[in-house]
Amino acid sequence: MTSAYGDGTRCVRAGLPPVRPGQPFLPGPVLASTYHLDPVAGPTDGVDGYGRPDNATRRALEAAIGELEGGECVAFGSGMAAVSAVLLALAPAGRAVLVPADGYYQTRAFATENLPPRGVAVRTAPTAGPYPCFADIAVALLETPSNPGLDVCDIAELAGRLHEVGALVAVDNTTATPLGQRPLDLGADVVVASGTKALAGHSDLLVGYVCTRSAEIAARFRAWRDLTGGIPGAFDCWLAHRSLATLDIRLARQSANAAAVAEVLTKHPGLVSVRWPGLPTDPGYAVATAQMRRIPGVVTFELPSRGHVARFLGAAQLVEAATSFGGLHTTADRRAQWGDDTPEGLVRLSCGIEDTADLVADVNAALAAAAAD
Ligand SMILES: *Cc1c(COP(=O)(O)O)cnc(C)c1O
Repeated sequence: MTSAYGDGTRCVRAGLPPVRPGQPFLPGPVLASTYHLDPVAGPTDGVDGYGRPDNATRRALEAAIGELEGGECVAFGSGMAAVSAVLLALAPAGRAVLVPADGYYQTRAFATENLPPRGVAVRTAPTAGPYPCFADIAVALLETPSNPGLDVCDIAELAGRLHEVGALVAVDNTTATPLGQRPLDLGADVVVASGTKALAGHSDLLVGYVCTRSAEIAARFRAWRDLTGGIPGAFDCWLAHRSLATLDIRLARQSANAAAVAEVLTKHPGLVSVRWPGLPTDPGYAVATAQMRRIPGVVTFELPSRGHVARFLGAAQLVEAATSFGGLHTTADRRAQWGDDTPEGLVRLSCGIEDTADLVADVNAALAAAAAD
């Protein structure tokens, strides 16, 4: 698939096999833990033998995501299975990893609990900087825009500096998706992401992936996954692949809704802060608009208290309380309730694909209700 095509065209065709009369566009899921073997020759290279290393439905999803990210994709059972593979498989004992101080809190929790006992030091830095000295960093995991604060960092600039010390650079592309940002084009060695969020986008499955242009690194991830077993199920792969076809139009509506909601939020007097990297007044605007192809449908804002958030959610008709993000339905999550180290009134609002006017009216009414205590 040539990348001369636009996003919608690339999404609708990504990873599909050549058409064959009588066959569906996307072949159905191959549900198999094991396959017939040649009774005489036994396992044969290139022929599926066992479900952990071999599944055609998973390979088709990997082909699709690989086309969109511009690298070789290895799919995992969740974003965290992919993140932990990056940190455990690539970081040698005696060196350090760098993870965001303000990124997805489970990435930080995984690193600080599991790497030091293995002799790997953990350094943290806020996404927007300042960054520490990179001297002993073997793997830097950047997350831009960061979840939930939506700060951004300059991938090309940091990758250049990290490569000077021989570090590998991984970028968590969950929030942006491959249509929003192509970290491999910007100099990253590895993209890692949760496809659970906007990529699959229907709030009905978990999946994760890594992508890289290095055949050697891809082989390490594949070997790692074969031995640790963190594979996604075939049906989830199939659902994710089916959902990818609409990624372009889903993101377009989510992003338009986020732009309209962010605008409303900035005009509201009762808010402590509003973050959306597409707002010209946002601290991340310059870097985000330079390195991103589109701004995600997530807006983060802070209300004065937990009670304000409860009233906001109680009054809203179209904003449902739920964690995760990137789905079809607009959801809001008070991050502090999960133990994320954020203010009590911080809300990550994930815009769905509802009509913009309906959503804006609903958010306005809910904000008014939140302020009336
Ligand atoms: C959700 C998320 C993950 C983890 O993904 P799961 O699919 O839930 O395991 C990793 N990174 C970021 C930025 C996320 O938002």
